[in-house]
Amino acid sequence: MKLSIRDLDLKGKTVFIRVDFNVPLAPGGQEITSDKRIRASLPTIQYALEQGAGLILASHLGRPKGKPNPEMSLKPVAARLSELLGRPVKMAPDCIGPEVAALRPAPGEILLLENLRFHKEEEANDPEFSKQLASLADVYVNDAFGTAHRAHASTVGMIQYMPQAAAGLLMDKELEYLTKVTKNPPRPCVAILGGAKVSDKIEVIQNLMKFVDRLLIGGAMAYTFLKAKGEPVGKSLVEDDKLELAKELMAQAGEKLMLPVDHVVASEIKEGAETSTVSQIPDDKMGLDIGEKTVAMYSEIIATAKSVIWNGPMGVFEVPPFDRGTVAIAKAVAQANVLSVVGGGDSEKAIKAAGVSQQISHISTGGGASLEFLAGIELPGVAALTDKLA
Ligand code: AMP
Repeated sequence: MKLSIRDLDLKGKTVFIRVDFNVPLAPGGQEITSDKRIRASLPTIQYALEQGAGLILASHLGRPKGKPNPEMSLKPVAARLSELLGRPVKMAPDCIGPEVAALRPAPGEILLLENLRFHKEEEANDPEFSKQLASLADVYVNDAFGTAHRAHASTVGMIQYMPQAAAGLLMDKELEYLTKVTKNPPRPCVAILGGAKVSDKIEVIQNLMKFVDRLLIGGAMAYTFLKAKGEPVGKSLVEDDKLELAKELMAQAGEKLMLPVDHVVASEIKEGAETSTVSQIPDDKMGLDIGEKTVAMYSEIIATAKSVIWNGPMGVFEVPPFDRGTVAIAKAVAQANVLSVVGGGDSEKAIKAAGVSQQISHISTGGGASLEFLAGIELPGVAALTDKLA
């Protein structure tokens, strides 16, 4: 267990909070198109303010490649955060240096540092840069789960120069749910994996099959497995160089691993394309979604589960009608009323489209980080935090 912000005495302290303010911006960099990530950080920010701390908030935004770029400034974020909190948020001209140090916030004040990645030393996890970041504050809190799989100066390097490093409330919630479903999950535990490629999720599949009771496969990934089994896949997306690996994975997983039994096929990926549902994919068609029989079969298994882990869409979710299978699975997970942890942007969108967000226990904010967690890989940004004494 890692130290939580709740374990810290923050009164009168300056707390450095690594947040995830990597928000989408409209071209030009002035307008925030979704403030979801800013909102997700509010509980930790509000908690630290209530405890009497002065706050230094730090984040990266986009890929400025180690150089200042006004189109990736965090200034619009300071403005939006100030609106959401109903109090001023001071914007620092940079993230390190004497000018920034002189802006040290008093209790109740908030200083937002400029984009960490304006310095190449951030991603290089440079010790000198780390020391400079650490010198700005008394305590360290990481609430940026989405970057916890990266060993950068603000997520790992600076921690060794801080007396204490704790998880923020959002980070805490992510770790709590991901740990619950991966260590001794309520059984039966069912994992649902979809998306484009087997190659992206090999380690996830290998790790999940160690402890889940069922592994339901959907998305294009299924066609690499089906082809490896000798089934016709037509013109479906297949990773031909992963057929041997797919065979090995199926042999290791045995009956746990389930593949679609029918498919929605079409000649092209186009909105409103002519489709049919088949159990054998014709040579000239592509499998673009799981069929009704598969939806029914998977839904029945999900209904008997006590915990569900889901990552990745069951079909070409972005293009209707190939979103149906994914939305149906979202509904099945919601109806099962189980401990459910969902990661990945498409699965989250399907849950929103199905209107069932409230029935999902936890929707992860970090796609890459949650996949690495499910793969059993220790996240460097989590490992670096202070251990909680038992
Ligand atoms: P991932 O990022 O690995 O979760 O993959 C998501 C992508 O997989 C989405 O863009 C989907 O359109 C794509 N995808 C899912 N199923 C299929 C399919 N049957 N054929 C082609 N692409 C698919």
